[in-house]
Amino acid sequence: MELELEKLQLPSDNERPYVIAGPCSAETEEQVMTTARQLAGKGCHIFRAGVWKPRTKPGGFEGNGETALPWMARVKEETGMLIATEVATPEHVELALKYGVDILWVGARTSANPFAMQALADSLRGTDVPVLVKNPVNPDLELWIGALERINQAGIKRLGAIHRGFSSYDKKIYRNLPTWQIPIELHRRIPELPIFCDPSHIGGSRELVAPLCQQAMDLGFDGLIVESHCEPDKAWSDAKQQVTPDVLDYILSLLVVRDETVTTE
Ligand code: PEP
Ligand code: MN
Repeated sequence: MELELEKLQLPSDNERPYVIAGPCSAETEEQVMTTARQLAGKGCHIFRAGVWKPRTKPGGFEGNGETALPWMARVKEETGMLIATEVATPEHVELALKYGVDILWVGARTSANPFAMQALADSLRGTDVPVLVKNPVNPDLELWIGALERINQAGIKRLGAIHRGFSSYDKKIYRNLPTWQIPIELHRRIPELPIFCDPSHIGGSRELVAPLCQQAMDLGFDGLIVESHCEPDKAWSDAKQQVTPDVLDYILSLLVVRDETVTTE
């Protein structure tokens, strides 16, 4: 099946990369606002923060839920950045849109579940919010494409994919194995679909963010979604992989972005 797509209509539509940055989780209003002001000061246009956090095991911080949505709205109002958050249920979609969230993303645990994806797709019908779909936790390209198709069939044409790596028992270097041939094949199958790379969840460590960003650019990815926190060591989730807005700015300043890609068709 062909996807019916339109341009994302986001800042950087005409130059690579799109950059989405912000903390793994919206922890407190102060943490959200401090991080957002620092990122906006570095020229970032799109702010991410998880409001609902799907945790592997119970007992971790599961997000502030609706309480955090006015903080996100304040980020938009004060800094002018667009705001993005993860949605996993129709209720999340309804609340996120009510508070003016500009971009929704679907997490890797949700995109692995066709029933959850269909429920999300049905709740998006009649809206035209851009939706980014992360790859499922398992390396299954068809499941990823199926998730994108469900959202597209609900009438969402501003669609993108996020490569965040694949869960594996092998944790020697990466938290989630990049297995680049899968997003490369996705691009071959759906060339007009923008693909973002999430170096934070692939690498799982600060040191890997810069080389993974560069690798994504060399492979022709369209955008980056990077976790950035005003005080990474104190983060309530994913502390090891978050970088300060200062460090993120430095990483982006070193990126070499060429028109041609190093992959061969
Ligand atoms: C996240 O973006 O913070 C997140 C939970 O990601 P993933 O769905 O890729 O694990
Ligand atoms: Mn995270």
